[in-house]
Amino acid sequence: MKRLIEGFEQFRNDVFPAQREVFRQLASGQSPHTMFITCADSRVMPELMFSAQPGELFVYRNIGNIVPPYAQHVSGVVAAIEYAVKVLKVKHIVICGHSDCGAMKALQYPERVKDMPSVAAWMMHADVARYVVAQNRPNLLGDEGLRHLTEENVVGQLEHLRTLPAVAAAMAAGELRIHGWVYDIGHAELKAFDAQQGRFVQIEPGKFDVPEATPHARFAAPTATAA
Ligand SMILES: [Zn+2]
Repeated sequence: MKRLIEGFEQFRNDVFPAQREVFRQLASGQSPHTMFITCADSRVMPELMFSAQPGELFVYRNIGNIVPPYAQHVSGVVAAIEYAVKVLKVKHIVICGHSDCGAMKALQYPERVKDMPSVAAWMMHADVARYVVAQNRPNLLGDEGLRHLTEENVVGQLEHLRTLPAVAAAMAAGELRIHGWVYDIGHAELKAFDAQQGRFVQIEPGKFDVPEATPHARFAAPTATAA
């Protein structure tokens, strides 16, 4: 624990005084623009990756960046999404997978989690990725197989996300946009799912118009524009 307490001392002595006004405002409320759902993996640090300030990102992390489909499983992540959309009124939800993901390796090699019944049961929510890859690219193994599983898991979780009524309603009203990304730890690269093209594309430096996975807003006001 010494490492953590030392780290907190450093934060309190160096970071906090420099942003005292930010923390004073945040003490009584939050208004994050984005909900960021990613893996619990210790190497994925959303606030660090996006140079985010406190109060900007509503982060939810679990093994495999999974969102169980509506009505199948009441979970922390589903409750957090509902809260983020209905109360915090986030403008964006990002589901972000990552390279070298242990959860995706468990999909690839299910025998590795046979002694972890809770993990194995949780990973059933990602079985769509395993099945899609097995049906379409049955001979893909190793790193290439892992990459496809990681991408297909993000696509599958985006589809689950769309089954949540609060999410579906906010997207239909043009008030919420959804995004599927994959982060490469070793190269500091991001790929985004382009739902129109049906593939992941690299997010290039200086290019801010990134592809997304938001369906057409059927009830959007004519003047509504993307945030
Ligand atoms: Zn992971």
